Amino acid sequence: MNKTKKIAVIGAGPSGSAAAYYLTNNGYEVDVFEKENFIGGRTHVFDNGETRFDTGASFFTNFYPLLLSLIKELNLDHEVLELKRRVGLREKETLAEFAFGDIKTFWNLPFLSFKDKTTMIWKTLLLTLQRRKLDLVNPKKLAAIDDESIANWARNYLTENVYEYCIKPGVEPFWYFSCEDVSRAMTTVLQGRAADAKFYTFKNGMASISSKLLENSSLQLNSAVSKIEKNNSKFLVTYQNSTKEASCLYDGIVMACPTPQIKKILPENLIPSYIKDFINSQQYVTNLHATYLVDEKETKGSLAYYYPCGKWETPIAAIVLHKIKAIDSIKAPKGKELISVYIMDHSTNQLNNLEEKEIFSKVWDMAKDFQPSLPADYIPVAIFNRENAIPLHQVGRYSLANKIKDAQNGNLVFAGDYLSCATVEGAIRSGRWAAFKLMNKEISTF
Ligand SMILES: Cc1cc2nc3c(=O)[nH]c(=O)nc-3n(C[C@H](O)[C@H](O)[C@H](O)COP(=O)(O)OP(=O)(O)OC[C@H]3O[C@@H](n4cnc5c(N)ncnc54)[C@H](O)[C@@H]3O)c2cc1C
Repeated sequence: MNKTKKIAVIGAGPSGSAAAYYLTNNGYEVDVFEKENFIGGRTHVFDNGETRFDTGASFFTNFYPLLLSLIKELNLDHEVLELKRRVGLREKETLAEFAFGDIKTFWNLPFLSFKDKTTMIWKTLLLTLQRRKLDLVNPKKLAAIDDESIANWARNYLTENVYEYCIKPGVEPFWYFSCEDVSRAMTTVLQGRAADAKFYTFKNGMASISSKLLENSSLQLNSAVSKIEKNNSKFLVTYQNSTKEASCLYDGIVMACPTPQIKKILPENLIPSYIKDFINSQQYVTNLHATYLVDEKETKGSLAYYYPCGKWETPIAAIVLHKIKAIDSIKAPKGKELISVYIMDHSTNQLNNLEEKEIFSKVWDMAKDFQPSLPADYIPVAIFNRENAIPLHQVGRYSLANKIKDAQNGNLVFAGDYLSCATVEGAIRSGRWAAFKLMNKEISTF
């Protein structure tokens, strides 16, 4: 493709924003269509003037190499904050503190025996030595270890207790899926990185990265693309904005939205055969979370995160105390703390048809049942309910994603976290890859 051609990117999440960035940097004219009135997709930052917080992705790590290099390139260093990863692991009445990367809190964890702890440390060291071969979001590297469920692998390689009290609470609540169904690949990488893991966020929210990446594109907010058709060598993109339906011709397309939306927009004959089955079979877990304001003095001594562990059944995936998690990053009224309560995938169904007031009340009851020290009184702030929150990483999925990644060609390409790993790093790497494929330029790393 020659320069100065016009490209439409569908979706202003991290993957679409990254694709737009690399295309505009190479002289392409880019229109980014976004159905919402905000950018960032699942990194959307809620801001009502009084409070601000991340509604989806809320951290990145020191093993997100592309994001880290973009932060330098785009001069965002001054916006980066390191997070407090002090976590409460709860099993019924027992609550224990655990800090990521801190051997002392791990060694004091009450749920594990001496043997569990030594096995975990020994095996973690072994994986740490191999970690050059591991990459959280590269399907090519993960395909080789995409052979067993997380749960099976952890039980066999570590111990049942380590699985129940470390791996499961570390992986399940964040991704909202069951470790029984999901490939071990991701956990192997995470364990390999555990020794020096660091967690960061952006002072103004995770969508800061998309906002910078989109600076040279023409952004069409409130513009839901409803149809894409072939028109000779071009593509006709039809979209609906607040006032009208309109169409525009483009030389190339980057589809950067989750697979259920792709199925709605692209007619069967335009979905290339190399990706059709994958798009049709990709499943997502749902996510609901409710955010509240409470009196800050009532949260004194609390930890930043609470996760369930062990065989205990609870609908709570996680409770996050935003101000404690990232001092200074969160906007909240003076004297108030912002608390988000995340509900496990299958438990969201029973809340879906309720009135908002009832959801706030039921979710708070669940949270208090889980963590009784939470105050009785709250001010409801907002509810976020995502039907397509996280692409499921079934066993065998990385092998497929790897084939698709390599097969991409032509003027219609695909980007999104479903093609790598459900992280911001995965999304932006897929966006870069798609942009280079569209430009017909060599790119050696995903
Ligand atoms: C609750 C939660 C917590 C998470 N936490 C983290 C975390 O801490 N760290 C991390 O790295 N990752 C995290 N993630 C994952 C991360 O948010 C995603 O991997 C990432 O946002 C995916 O980017 P994307 O561009 O592929 O998709 P999205 O972010 O979903 O962006 C797709 C965009 O396409 C738009 N769109 C859809 N259909 C249309 C249409 N018809 N027309 C126009 N636009 C359309 C959408 O509105 C959206 O803006 C989390 C996700 C969730 C849900």
